[in-house]
Amino acid sequence: MVIGAAARVAITGCRKLVSSHSSLLVSSHCRHMSMDAGSVSEKLRNSGLLRTQGLIGGKWLDSYDKKTIKVYNPATGEIIADVACMGVRETNDAIASSYEAFTSWSRLTAGERSKVLRRWYDLLIAHKEELGQLITLEQGKPLKEAIGEVGYGASFIEYYAEEAKRVYGDIIPPNLSDRRLLVLKQPIGVVGAITPWNFPLAMITRKVGPALASGCTVVVKPSELTPLTALAAAELALQAGVPPGALNVVMGNAPEIGDALLTSPQVRKITFTGSTAVGKKLMAAAAPTVKKVSLELGGNAPSIVFNDADLDVAVKGTLAAKFRNSGQTCVCANRVLVQDGIYDKFAEAFSEAVQKLEVGDGFKEGSTQGPLINDAAVQKVESFVQDAVSKGAKIILGGKRHSLGMTFYEPTVIRDVSDNMIMSKEEIFGPVAPLIRFKTEEDAIRIANDTIAGLAAYIFTNSVQRSWRVFEALEYGLVGVNEGIISTEVAPFGGVKQSGLGREGSKYGMDEYLEIKYVCLGDMNRH
Ligand code: NAP
Repeated sequence: MVIGAAARVAITGCRKLVSSHSSLLVSSHCRHMSMDAGSVSEKLRNSGLLRTQGLIGGKWLDSYDKKTIKVYNPATGEIIADVACMGVRETNDAIASSYEAFTSWSRLTAGERSKVLRRWYDLLIAHKEELGQLITLEQGKPLKEAIGEVGYGASFIEYYAEEAKRVYGDIIPPNLSDRRLLVLKQPIGVVGAITPWNFPLAMITRKVGPALASGCTVVVKPSELTPLTALAAAELALQAGVPPGALNVVMGNAPEIGDALLTSPQVRKITFTGSTAVGKKLMAAAAPTVKKVSLELGGNAPSIVFNDADLDVAVKGTLAAKFRNSGQTCVCANRVLVQDGIYDKFAEAFSEAVQKLEVGDGFKEGSTQGPLINDAAVQKVESFVQDAVSKGAKIILGGKRHSLGMTFYEPTVIRDVSDNMIMSKEEIFGPVAPLIRFKTEEDAIRIANDTIAGLAAYIFTNSVQRSWRVFEALEYGLVGVNEGIISTEVAPFGGVKQSGLGREGSKYGMDEYLEIKYVCLGDMNRH
């Protein structure tokens, strides 16, 4: 199927897709139905997990004006589904249902909420394959990686099912003998959760898990590019016993939905994962109603390879940190800083490893690199590469669109990158590894910290003393030492500087959904 003129008219209410996928219209690849993807969609449709309506107050609903938005398979350009394109009215109803559900959901015991979340976790795991297929279909990452995301995403539901029972308060030694001082932790209320396309499941469960566990209710807005996984997860939440209104999903017109969430006094918290630019807008718009705000924004991760690193470990770690999800993660190594003495050896070994990556449709056995999300993403990568080359950088490997067409891009390694090039300042969000040379440990720390972002950083060294000195000096929220994949539900995830506010995952992630109430019990000496 190709995007026809009529279809394009039908989605005029919803931005972005027309322009970002417009190049698909001229690509011959999109005319061929990928057999694998086609049969997968058919199977998913029959399984009841391919939902296309929004979820409001426990009911699956079309948008009120019947507008729809198309969801595409980025590997083929095929239309997977038409989903409801919602806006302000649907969002207001979702907020109202969440507000109503809050009273009963927050009054359940932690143990009762825990059981519901545990059942949801079990269902997510039981449907790991189908959810993985949905992720590959709408996001493009290789199936194995997609199934890995389901395990990772589900782990937040399991973790917070357990953590629900550990929301402890405090008793403070009183300042006067006739008083007793208590601290209670209580759920904040209705939460608006806005999530990106690069982890269609995990970015949702990382927010909804702690929100529901603490007694909050939620309105989720997934990206219009990848709403299907969110809707399938919500279907499983209903089956697990999450009551009507406790979890709503609306998607479509992002600015309208965002405005409705931000201006409503009933929404007490906004949690957002996405670009720094949108995060800043949301933060400003949350000010008039003084909402609590958590932001997980863009990164510019350095992977620092010192002369004393184990070459194999550094290559393997940097490869994983850079090329996961075809370079489309906020914690992807954006700059590879390599010390003088190991630079050439590393460049050679790393390029050899990158050459072995297999680009292809995520459903094809052996593919390790799927397509980029849309043509705008490829154009951005192309312009960054062009800028670097025009300023003296040299392409060792790749450096252009892949012969598969569509939005596939060759895994790329570029050497002699310097700090005046765009790719060392901004998120590439694609499979391009720029190698930057440095001389001393001080230089590495200075270059690594010379950015407004501060999410993830990686260092490779065999010196314990050096690793301590460097991770203490790095202005980042997460640091991997001799390790390229470090995210886990049991550890806090979040950035410093303009990479965000707050933490997700771990015991710290729960605090984002709780208010602290101090209670002073007076007149205790009266008999
Ligand atoms: P994005 O364009 O900022 O979109 C993120 C979400 O915000 C989407 O649901 C989007 O909706 C919505 N949105 C856009 N404009 C909005 C508005 N005016 N009001 C309300 N919502 C709005 O980011 P993205 O391109 O999807 O994701 C990539 C970015 O996310 C990268 O910068 C990456 O580093 C960052 N990220 C950060 C983390 C982290 O944990 N720090 C994790 C993953 C990704 P539509 O898609 O429907 O337009």
